[in-house]
Amino acid sequence: RLIAPSTQGTQEEALERALRPKVLDEYVGQEKARGQLEIFINAARGRSEALDHVLLFGPPGLGKTTLAHIIAKEMGVNMRQTSGPVLERAGDLAALLTNLEPNDVLFIDEIHRLSPVVEEILYPAMEDYRLDIMIGEGPAARSVRLDLPPFTLVGATTRAGMLTNPLRDRFGIVSRLEFYTAEELARIVHRSAGLLEVSMQQEGALEIARRSRGTPRIANRLLRRVRDYAQVKSDGMVSAAIADAALKMLDVDKLGFDVMDRKLLLAVLEKFDGGPVGLDNLAAAIGEERDTIEDVLEPYLIQQGYLMRTPRGRIATQQAYQHFGLAVPGKIGA
Ligand code: ADP
Repeated sequence: RLIAPSTQGTQEEALERALRPKVLDEYVGQEKARGQLEIFINAARGRSEALDHVLLFGPPGLGKTTLAHIIAKEMGVNMRQTSGPVLERAGDLAALLTNLEPNDVLFIDEIHRLSPVVEEILYPAMEDYRLDIMIGEGPAARSVRLDLPPFTLVGATTRAGMLTNPLRDRFGIVSRLEFYTAEELARIVHRSAGLLEVSMQQEGALEIARRSRGTPRIANRLLRRVRDYAQVKSDGMVSAAIADAALKMLDVDKLGFDVMDRKLLLAVLEKFDGGPVGLDNLAAAIGEERDTIEDVLEPYLIQQGYLMRTPRGRIATQQAYQHFGLAVPGKIGA
């Protein structure tokens, strides 16, 4: 029950697991995070200590879970995985913590969604490897202190800003994962193609890479769909032309924007005159959750310079008008 849904078995998830790099050397890109972790892991291992607690943040699919697995593997310890919303009661977390072996990694995905009571008992656990839990209720209630083995908490979140300060302050290592370049994604696509035994031309890999929203999970997903297309429509070899035709069929445009990206941008452009428009209005206009807009859709559009987040709301940029072949109004064209 404490295991996050993402570790249970649909075929898609099994494939995702199979494509996961297992060691730091196979982990493509993220030079900064990788460089830091390499040093800290080597130092902790040299002293036979637990690695300091690690907070990873960045949009979904950039490799946070993968990195947590790699940290455990490089440290030579086991990893337990759970997620913020799954840990409802203090006892859920206590059960996990008391079952750890020395120096193990506990990975908590969506750590910004921990309940306050669970977060409360996490503080002394992180700081002093100690659990203070209340047993019983009313006048008979008493606090029990349990010593824990040293462990490493790896927390993942899509937005570091959603974490409470006391929680954020308890992480010794904080790494922000960035969107990948097309070249990095092409390397990931090549590697995955090798594992999936797909014949892949360099140009085919680049075409998929360019249209993957800077995100390895999307690159791997598109690769699998392109593979199906290549198998049915030609001899299985993924060329640039085959990749392009398959991606067109999947409604992924030249910039890698999918149906939802275009829906969002067009809403800002056409329904709200280019903005500024508040998040709630935008969510209502496109029938999408606020969180999905903020965590999944916007970050890439902002990073690519199609959308801006301002105190008054979201604004479409000149590039956004141009992408849809719309006239740029004077106010932002000037
Ligand atoms: P997150 O936890 O940030 O949502 P994951 O760690 O689950 O993302 O990554 C999604 C998929 O992308 C993984 O299955 C993995 O195959 C691939 N992936 C992520 N980062 C990398 C990387 N740096 N190099 C190669 N593949 C990666």
